[in-house]
Amino acid sequence: MAWRSSGATNEALITNLVKNKLIRSDRVKDAMLRVDRAHFAPAKPYDDSPQPLGHKATISAPHMHASACESLLDYLEPGSKVLDVGSGSGYLTAVLANLVAPNGTVIGIDHIQPLNDMANANMGKSEEGRKMLESGQIKFVTGDGREGWAEGAPYDAIHVGAAAAVHHKALTDQLKAPGRLFVPVAEGGTQHIYVIDKNKDGSLERQKLYGVQYVPLTDAPV
Ligand code: SAH
Repeated sequence: MAWRSSGATNEALITNLVKNKLIRSDRVKDAMLRVDRAHFAPAKPYDDSPQPLGHKATISAPHMHASACESLLDYLEPGSKVLDVGSGSGYLTAVLANLVAPNGTVIGIDHIQPLNDMANANMGKSEEGRKMLESGQIKFVTGDGREGWAEGAPYDAIHVGAAAAVHHKALTDQLKAPGRLFVPVAEGGTQHIYVIDKNKDGSLERQKLYGVQYVPLTDAPV
C-alpha cells in the first residue's frame, strides 16, 4: 500500500496519501502540504519511503509521519506544546509546528549535533521555516531524548521517531494530564507503535498498534 502514495511533487504525494486514506483529516493534509519534503529528504523526496540521512538516521516514510500526526491530532491544537524525540531531518517537527500554530511550540531533540545543524539548515530553506525558527515556534536541542526535555515540559504531545528498548518513564512524566505519547517500542525482535494516554487523573492507558521498523533510540556515538 505504501508505495502507491508516491508522487512527482509534494502536492501529488500528499494527495495520494489522502486518496489511500493514510491521511484522514484536513488539518494533517494542510500541515503536510505546507512543508516541502524536498527540503528535508536528500533523495526521492516525494516517494512514500524512508530515506537515509547519514549518521545512521533515516527520515521516516511520509505515511508514518501522517500516521503519527493523525494519532496525536486531538492533542495538537493552536497553542499546544510538543516534543519531537529523534527529530533527525526536522521534517516532522515542521509539520507538527504547523498543527499547533500560531502560538504553539515544538521542541525537536536529537543526540547528534550535525543532524540538528542539518534540521536548522533545512528549516532555513523556506521563508515559513525561517520564521518558525526566529519566532521560537520551533527549537532544536541536543541531548538524550530518552530523558525527554525537562526544560520545556509538560507537553500536550510527545512524538518519538526511533524505537525505544523500554517504556521510558521520563517521557510519560513530562506529559500533561491529559496528554499523549506516540512511541515505537522494540519487544523481542519486533517493534510496535504504542499510543500512551495520560488521563486527567494522571493514570496511563497504553494502546499497542501496528508493527513498524524504526532505527533504535541509542546512546550518543562517542
Ligand atoms: N523523525 C526523524 C527520524 C530520524 S531517525 C525524521 O523523520 O527525520 C531517528 C533519529 O533518532 C535519528 O536522527 C537519531 O539520531 C535519533 N536518536 C536516536 N537515539 C536518540 C537518543 N537517545 N536521543 C535523541 N535522539 C536519538
